Amino acid sequence: MSAQDDCIFCRIARGEAPCARICEDADTLAFLDLFPASEGHALVIPRAHCADVFEAPPAALRAVAATARRVAVGLRTALAPDGLSLHQLNGRAAGQTVFHYHVHLIPHSGSAGGEPRIHGRRQADPGDLERLARRIAAELPEE
Ligand code: 5GP
Ligand code: ZN
Repeated sequence: MSAQDDCIFCRIARGEAPCARICEDADTLAFLDLFPASEGHALVIPRAHCADVFEAPPAALRAVAATARRVAVGLRTALAPDGLSLHQLNGRAAGQTVFHYHVHLIPHSGSAGGEPRIHGRRQADPGDLERLARRIAAELPEE
């Protein structure tokens, strides 16, 4: 899949748009969501553009899953949430708003359970996100 000039996640992957990066490798990038549903809300994307699970090559799905697990361990160590949910939306009807494949990791606190919210309402402070991304990055396990 080719990079898309107008895709915000391609621009982030190319380093043309800012993000609070947690980690990156040859195939994937993990960074904090700008509109977090909770503290530590992270996204993992493949570097190569694909819109959704239907377009994503299986190798890209595997690479994203491996990075997501690494970030999950880092989030658990850094923030000690009571729970952590992973989400992945496909199509406008499912609530997808950025059409570059990505997995959400959302930490949850408290024992209440209930419906997890995926989209935050307020933009986070970029400086706060940067500091939090460094805290999580410091806790990532070996690949
Ligand atoms: P979707 O609804 O497509 O599953 O989720 C897209 C996510 O990307 C949303 O949670 C939204 O807050 C996040 N997002 C949109 N634009 C940006 C951006 O420029 N930077 C970052 N870090 N997150 C973004
Ligand atoms: Zn893209």
